[in-house]
Amino acid sequence: MLFDPAFFRQIKGFLNHHEGVALYRLARKASRKAPCLEIGSYCGKSAVYLGLGCQENNAVLFSIDHHGGSEEHQPGGAYFDPSVYNRELQQVDTFPHFRQTILKSGLKNTIVPIVCSSQVAVRQWKTPLGLVFIDGGHSYESAFADYTAWSKFILPGGYLLIHDIYQDPQQGGQAPFQIYQQALASGRYKALPMIESIGILLHQP
Ligand code: MG
Repeated sequence: MLFDPAFFRQIKGFLNHHEGVALYRLARKASRKAPCLEIGSYCGKSAVYLGLGCQENNAVLFSIDHHGGSEEHQPGGAYFDPSVYNRELQQVDTFPHFRQTILKSGLKNTIVPIVCSSQVAVRQWKTPLGLVFIDGGHSYESAFADYTAWSKFILPGGYLLIHDIYQDPQQGGQAPFQIYQQALASGRYKALPMIESIGILLHQP
């Protein structure tokens, strides 16, 4: 079932299989040293790829999302999906979909869901990380806050990954590309070749 593209196609999300396999490989490498963490779980697609890599080392993936959807997932937004809208709560709620994905993939002992905003999750965070994948809110404020809050926990030799980097504004929002450039300008990272829209930065030892 796993690594069958058909399994991943039925999970809602905005990550293609080629990008997902890259996440798997990076998580497999990074989780030898420390846990991995993603911001922006949505319905769990990237969590499965990352989690499969962590599972090989008996490590864990922390997957953070308030599950209320990003700006573009709200009613009227470009990526609103009525099937993840909870009418009773009158809000987007992707957590049931996320949980179903984790159970179907057999990764319940690998993936640790953290259901709150990433800024709440970081308040008491102390654990060094082998990999941080930033794929949460795509406004500049959200992306920059995630970068600032979480990148400091990445161990030397670990990875900072940023999804949805489009150098051409016609293709997509510029916030992920802006934080990618800021990370590079800090001098702490070496850019590795991008995989589609995933920027891959190695924290220099
Ligand atoms: Mg994304």
